[in-house]
Amino acid sequence: MRDVRFEASLLDRFGSSRVHRQLALGPLTTFKVGGPADWFVELRGSAELRDALRLARDFGVPVFVLGGGSNVLVADDGVRGLVVRLHGGEITRIAPDRIRADAGVTINGLVRWTVSSGLAGLEAWAGTPGTVGGAVHGNAHFQGRLIGDLIVAATLATHKGELTGVIGADLEFGYDYSRLQRTGEILVTADFRVGEGEPAALRATARESLAFRKRTQPLASPSAGCIFQNPAPGRDQVPDGIPWSAGALVDRAGLKGAREGHARVSTTHANFIVNEGGAKAGEIRALVERCKQGVLDAFGVELREEIVYMGFEAGGQAATTDRGAEKTHGNPQD
Ligand SMILES: Cc1cc2nc3c(=O)[nH]c(=O)nc-3n(C[C@H](O)[C@H](O)[C@H](O)COP(=O)(O)OP(=O)(O)OC[C@H]3O[C@@H](n4cnc5c(N)ncnc54)[C@H](O)[C@@H]3O)c2cc1C
Repeated sequence: MRDVRFEASLLDRFGSSRVHRQLALGPLTTFKVGGPADWFVELRGSAELRDALRLARDFGVPVFVLGGGSNVLVADDGVRGLVVRLHGGEITRIAPDRIRADAGVTINGLVRWTVSSGLAGLEAWAGTPGTVGGAVHGNAHFQGRLIGDLIVAATLATHKGELTGVIGADLEFGYDYSRLQRTGEILVTADFRVGEGEPAALRATARESLAFRKRTQPLASPSAGCIFQNPAPGRDQVPDGIPWSAGALVDRAGLKGAREGHARVSTTHANFIVNEGGAKAGEIRALVERCKQGVLDAFGVELREEIVYMGFEAGGQAATTDRGAEKTHGNPQD
């Protein structure tokens, strides 16, 4: 009964062409894996987000947020609750040295916009899949840079749908971490610090980043980027002579190329698992566990996931529940 009334309210607010029942989430992720969401709606702007969150709260339905789907593994059975996808939006120059992007703007779109506007700061992020929301949630990192270092302010939505403005420092950025993981708040907009730049020079930097990715990452097969965080000094102990890199640990534990069904540890980059076609989330998860056990047995290092599980019993992260599962701050290496 609750479900029928919730669905009727969703349809009333967003219309039948936008509310989907049992929508397969796999195609909306870069892994191309995972079952359906009970309900799914793509949202535009903070008013829609607020209304969706309030409806879900009123009916006690868990909410999950999806951006570009480039850092998630969705369970084969899918997600029980409402999945809201924030995709697309506006970028505005709000001051000579500041731009504001909606959470659903893609990082690549943001790079293209800043480069062509002659604004420096984001060009090296070219080729990073996903959205501003996902990048802030996990404090995306690339070659020692953290995206959080560029963020001066943000607007967040609480699980009740209330909007709140914060400064960058309030987001508690660390390696692979922001406070959104602790609170379940949803990013609505982010303000980035930018400088002046020459478009041709910015474009050259963007091209270098893209070329680096092409050389070092298995981009031809579906994946979710790096599976594991790198070990962190102070938290982990890595034996002498072994690099402080999750990929190197997986490789030296003899797991590069390891397979579970159609999932495989990439032979190009051992911190990537690729879907060789038709892989199940269960196979990918089993391979993740095998890598963790292998590295623990070989080196005594406990690897922690960088990817986010969605719809798995123990690992689901509904935005409307208190997650409590903080990722530990660590070591930004690759
Ligand atoms: C080929 C490849 C290369 C990659 N390279 C890098 C890299 O260099 N550096 C790096 O850091 N990552 C990399 N990644 C991982 C991924 O691109 C980033 O983690 C990206 O920032 C995820 O953004 P997303 O929008 O796809 O998030 P999603 O995968 O959709 O979601 C990830 C998490 O963020 C949450 N989330 C999404 N939007 C919001 C929001 N608006 N508010 C609150 N929470 C939200 C979700 O609920 C989920 O918990 C790579 C992935 C691939 C496939």
